[in-house]
Amino acid sequence: MATFKAIVIDKAESGQTVRLTDFDEKNLMDGDVTVAVEWSTVNYKDGLAVTGKAPVVRRFPMIAGVDFCGTVEESSHPAWTAGDKVILNGWGLGETHLGAYAEKARVKGDWLVRLPASLSARDAMAIGTAGYTAMLAVMALERAGITPSRGPLIVTGAAGGVGSVAVALLAKLGYAVTASTGRPEEAAYLTGLGASEVIERKELGGPPRPLAKERWAGGIDAVGSTTLANVLSMTRYGGTVAACGLAGGMDLPASVAPFILRGVSLVGIDSVMCPLPLRQEAWGRLEAGLDRGKIAAMTSEIGLADVIEAGRRIADGQVRGRIVVKIR
Ligand code: NDP
Repeated sequence: MATFKAIVIDKAESGQTVRLTDFDEKNLMDGDVTVAVEWSTVNYKDGLAVTGKAPVVRRFPMIAGVDFCGTVEESSHPAWTAGDKVILNGWGLGETHLGAYAEKARVKGDWLVRLPASLSARDAMAIGTAGYTAMLAVMALERAGITPSRGPLIVTGAAGGVGSVAVALLAKLGYAVTASTGRPEEAAYLTGLGASEVIERKELGGPPRPLAKERWAGGIDAVGSTTLANVLSMTRYGGTVAACGLAGGMDLPASVAPFILRGVSLVGIDSVMCPLPLRQEAWGRLEAGLDRGKIAAMTSEIGLADVIEAGRRIADGQVRGRIVVKIR
């Protein structure tokens, strides 16, 4: 019997169980590519999955983990051969398809993106789904015509994974970035990533007014709820906000005033089902547009045995930047 180490979530009468265990290779799901997983990461969604705080997992038993980087072991897919270095983000990994916190994964070749030549597998996972989502949001702002000359942008949940990469990417592209955080002690970290201003999360936490003083040309929001409603009310005429997260809640207590009186746009960002060409563009831009020193500054490393504890911390908003998981 061939087995490998994996973080497995299962259902019990008392609720959900999660443990590091041996998984039998014959129980891997169908797929045309088998990958030796080398690195994964801890994203907010992984935290929700391992704690059971939200119904992320929709098949049991489930190997947790929504993203990985590794080397193809076997492939019957025309695009991939043994030895190729590949990245997988989303597509239901860790939700409906056995996931990334395992030494081995069997997946669809159509889901994979080639690891950019100058990135190591660890670099790619330091960026991870959070960073790739931040890049999708940056690309959406660019498509909306938000250039640096339009004025400063706001990034919410800035000390988290999506936020940290968004701050670094936008600063490198020449935008003035206001970073909103609930952890003012992280101000030096955020200015180090390129933020020109750091504000306290509570400035965006009051009851949202339909329209407030115009402050930013747009932004990237990882928080949702009251925070996003306040950001919309403070967005300048013709601005655009990219919404990608719900760390503060899934609701949106906003009015239509910013849309109909200031021509503000709200664009949605989804990384899970995002079409392949956009993913490839995003990873290509991440290779070129992200300072490796800044990636290093925002990343900490753990092993497979530490994932469950790290999942608890990220679900509680306690993680700074990104966590990479060394799988083998
Ligand atoms: P992190 O936990 O690393 O970052 C979230 C940050 O949000 C925290 O660090 C904290 O930042 C802030 N935050 C946490 N709780 C609250 C709260 N109650 N109220 C206000 N702010 C809060 O998670 P990720 O960066 O991995 O993910 C961020 C969000 O983006 C998540 O909601 C995640 O589900 C979503 N996401 C969506 C994707 C998509 O495809 N649309 C893909 C990837 C992520 P600070 O301390 O600086 O205030």
